[in-house]
Amino acid sequence: MVLKRIELNGFKSFADKTEILLSPGLTVVVGPNGSGKSNVADAIRWVLGEQSPRSLRGSKMEDVIFAGSDRRKPVGMAEVSLTLDNEKGMLPVDYREVTVTRRVFRSGESDYLLNRSPCRLRDLQELFSDTGLGREGISIIGQGRVDEVLSSRPEERRALIEEAAGIVRYRNRKREAVKK
Ligand code: ATP
Ligand code: MG
Repeated sequence: MVLKRIELNGFKSFADKTEILLSPGLTVVVGPNGSGKSNVADAIRWVLGEQSPRSLRGSKMEDVIFAGSDRRKPVGMAEVSLTLDNEKGMLPVDYREVTVTRRVFRSGESDYLLNRSPCRLRDLQELFSDTGLGREGISIIGQGRVDEVLSSRPEERRALIEEAAGIVRYRNRKREAVKK
């Protein structure tokens, strides 16, 4: 599955609407210290449902909204969209291109969109389960995560292997069915 586009608007240091187009293959983000490289990685984890402000290097969720600079006033909303190529149908929806969007306002109001239609975080989690994407997915390996895998308990390591094997969706559905 190919990540085609990242759009940031009001997210952290990206005060203006910024579009990052990715071609197939390897993409490397380079730039001086403090230029916003890690903010791009934070944006990807955020739109995929990251709920912990600390793991996004803030203290509250509002910290992801552009807070102003010497020359710019703060903005009221942060929005990030990720567009994925779904030509091969890896994601179980009838779209050839899938765009997921997350927004948060200073009021605390926040929402998720799937191809511009409102949806729940749970819908996105279900969509991305077994693809390696998603907040705890294996596609995003943060600093320190490699050590974590090596030193994790067998049950935790099993969860990673299950995700890679593509059976998490069925496990979750089974759990839901048993509950009912
Ligand atoms: P390094 O090479 O040191 O890892 P980096 O390119 O990864 O740097 P980031 O950590 O992505 O840099 O960006 C840090 C910058 O983002 C800081 O200048 C910080 O002030 C700015 N920043 C973070 N959150 C906000 C916010 N809410 N509003 C405005 N600026 C922000
Ligand atoms: Mg960094």
